Amino acid sequence: MELINNAPLKAFTTFGVEATCDHLYRVEDYDELKLAVQYLERPLILGGGSNILPIGDIHRNILRMEMKGIYILEDGDQPIIGVAAGEVWHDFVMWALQHDLGGVENLSLIPGTMGAAPMQNIGAYGVELESVFHSLQAVEIGTGNVRVFFKEECRFGYRDSIFKKEVKDRYVITGVNVRLTRDHQLNTTYGAIQDVLNVKGISHPTIHDVSEAVIAIRQSKLPDPKMIGNAGSFFKNPVITADQYTLIKSAHPELPGYPAEEGFVKVPAGWLIEQAGWKGKRKGNAGCYEKQALVLVNHGGARGEEIWSLALDIISSVKEKFHIELSPEVNLWNGEL
Ligand SMILES: Cc1cc2nc3c(=O)[nH]c(=O)nc-3n(C[C@H](O)[C@H](O)[C@H](O)COP(=O)(O)OP(=O)(O)OC[C@H]3O[C@@H](n4cnc5c(N)ncnc54)[C@H](O)[C@@H]3O)c2cc1C
Repeated sequence: MELINNAPLKAFTTFGVEATCDHLYRVEDYDELKLAVQYLERPLILGGGSNILPIGDIHRNILRMEMKGIYILEDGDQPIIGVAAGEVWHDFVMWALQHDLGGVENLSLIPGTMGAAPMQNIGAYGVELESVFHSLQAVEIGTGNVRVFFKEECRFGYRDSIFKKEVKDRYVITGVNVRLTRDHQLNTTYGAIQDVLNVKGISHPTIHDVSEAVIAIRQSKLPDPKMIGNAGSFFKNPVITADQYTLIKSAHPELPGYPAEEGFVKVPAGWLIEQAGWKGKRKGNAGCYEKQALVLVNHGGARGEEIWSLALDIISSVKEKFHIELSPEVNLWNGEL
């Protein structure tokens, strides 16, 4: 296990903010991980760093999950594939496509690792990890005990799971098992997927066509972290009660809303932020992305404190205008903790 002292988190997170971490361990081996979680005090777990904002320097041990491996655990019409936590999510999607296995094509090009995917039940273009998830293995921090979590135990929700709530910071996910399809059920109704397929003249799309359409749409809309630091959607789309929605809509008739669970409505956070006047705005080195207000960006040289200060301004102005409280989708790593 390689140890990097005084590690520059700029290199390990897609926000690319200026911050250091006292001790960063690169974990490639399962047995080393089991030992590390027993002996290192309160370690933080890092995957690809694409959903983290470090606020200040981090004076804790970080375990960066780099364990690799993709295995067919059970074959058949709906094979179960076991994937090590350190595998890059998009590489796994490409692996599935190469094996003509479906179910994850709509989730193409989401940055990050397999181990982090269940944390927030990653989702895009009408599909969430939950729809293919079978189970995961995790190691308990402090004891090194191994536990398997099946789907129902993970309590998946919109960008949510048990790992963000009841068992937050208690487990390191070491591997995830997903159930894919050989007889594919395509989902092309969400976003612009069907439009892209129409433009290309594809009337009988394959999982490869859907993946390519998703990749093209994502590349046209989202900033590439290699070019400009960001962590994708900074805020979750707020879910409010139907009554609250009706009340706010009476003052703002153009307020969009989408059905959520019974009695609730999901409101697009990007729209609220845009209406509050933040799209394309800049505060120091932090900014609200010009093409998608939901994404906050590091224009270069920003510290996490600067990005978070902009986020707080956005939260308070959306609250003032719409009486809706935005909450971050990104995980905040506060150096003071
Ligand atoms: C340009 C861009 C676009 C994005 N688009 C989407 C999108 O469409 N849909 C979507 O859902 N997300 C999206 N995201 C967010 C991000 O890709 C996902 O949240 C991804 O799952 C994060 O993976 P990661 O490995 O980078 O996790 P990290 O950022 O390293 O960690 C995220 C959280 O998971 C924890 N964690 C990481 N690995 C483990 C593990 N093995 N065990 C336990 N805890 C762990 C960390 O402690 C942290 O709390 C986007 C991000 C970017 C930069």
